[in-house]
Amino acid sequence: MNEHIQDLVIVGGGVMGLMTAYAAASLSNHLTIIEKSHIGDPKTASFGYTRSIRNDYLDPFYARLAYQARALWLELERKAAEPFIINCGCLNIAKSNVTPNLAETYAEQSYRVLAGIHLKTEAFTRETLSQRFPQFDVDMARLDVEAGFIYVPHVTHTLQTALQAHHVNILEETEITAIEQQPDRIRITTSAGQLLTRKLVITAGLGTNDVLARITGCQARYPLQPDRPSQCKYYMPPPEKLPMFTSDALPVFAYLDAGIYGHPILNGKTPGVKIGFYNPPDATLAHSHINNIAAFVEECMPTLRDASNIVVTGVDQCFYDLVADDNFIIGPLPGFPNITVGVGWRGTGYKYAPWVGQTLMQLALQEGTVYDINRFSPRRFADKGGGNPRHLSS
Ligand SMILES: Cc1cc2nc3c(=O)[nH]c(=O)nc-3n(C[C@H](O)[C@H](O)[C@H](O)COP(=O)(O)OP(=O)(O)OC[C@H]3O[C@@H](n4cnc5c(N)ncnc54)[C@H](O)[C@@H]3O)c2cc1C
Repeated sequence: MNEHIQDLVIVGGGVMGLMTAYAAASLSNHLTIIEKSHIGDPKTASFGYTRSIRNDYLDPFYARLAYQARALWLELERKAAEPFIINCGCLNIAKSNVTPNLAETYAEQSYRVLAGIHLKTEAFTRETLSQRFPQFDVDMARLDVEAGFIYVPHVTHTLQTALQAHHVNILEETEITAIEQQPDRIRITTSAGQLLTRKLVITAGLGTNDVLARITGCQARYPLQPDRPSQCKYYMPPPEKLPMFTSDALPVFAYLDAGIYGHPILNGKTPGVKIGFYNPPDATLAHSHINNIAAFVEECMPTLRDASNIVVTGVDQCFYDLVADDNFIIGPLPGFPNITVGVGWRGTGYKYAPWVGQTLMQLALQEGTVYDINRFSPRRFADKGGGNPRHLSS
């Protein structure tokens, strides 16, 4: 166990914890990550093959934040041994026999938001889409241009290499049994011994409430709920059609009104077009005949009809951490000014990770952040029975 008092201990070695350590590593040599499992554990939310990065949110605040995070991703990629951002764009589609009111679809609404904040977009009619993206049979589409997806294994490798180079102490397979706030330090008792730290950041995903329960005198628990797509499949087109479905030709795509999102094939890295069926909390699912992936393919992507498909297993078997009010939770733990919490990223957090890491680092080590994060404050639950959550994480 490290004898030296730490400047910062981070609980949880998912992407949020790694990014926090990465942001802190240039400011301190006394950093520790405590992970109860191991970094890269496929049972945790941060590890899989691909995660979309897009700006096309209906709330301009999240859209701006996603774009800000993108700049940080690009900065990180410049320092990486291998690139990890696939800039194929994100295409939101709609078809009138699925969602008759095209003007009110997610595609059109998010397009208006992006245009309103001057992010790059392209609009397609049925005709122009069939020339540019003939994979689809839909009536309109809107492209979020500065978007795409991330190849996760390269990100994990980049962060682990950087943290090693900065001698960040990473304790894996380590259980926390007690956390005690003392006048000028925090004592953490673990299965591997005791640690002292000035600041603590908790990025334990769905394990956050369990960590809070180990803090002496802490009543706060957060209304986190695990959730996951009801279906996720890889579609593998016949060899002659493969070039149509790789990230050179196909963007990330979504028909969120119908609960559908998809990632193109990353050549040599992923086995097929990944398609998920989910009811995202920030979109109202239309009543339509699209109630699974096969129905979507039949209706909107008939070019994949002759593809074989398999259920995605091995990766993405983890859960989203939904929050009751559908906003991130970032900020000091009420009553514990030296402890900062970051959780509740819903199914959408990965793209924000470098911004989250930077912000958590600023809150912990720099006594505040330049961002207005009031809406993310953990305090918002204090008045609503912060010690008595509606949904506890599993
Ligand atoms: C299937 C799936 C698909 C997704 N797709 C996208 C996408 O396309 N785009 C996007 O932007 N986002 C996406 N997300 C969301 C994104 O991946 C998550 O928001 C993000 O990875 C959360 O990171 P995290 O570090 O908070 O959580 P995790 O990765 O879960 O990390 C938390 C860590 O804390 C550890 N821990 C828990 N309890 C303790 C404890 N007591 N002591 C020590 N350690 C502990 C856990 O073992 C874990 O390693 C997706 C999520 C899932 C599940």
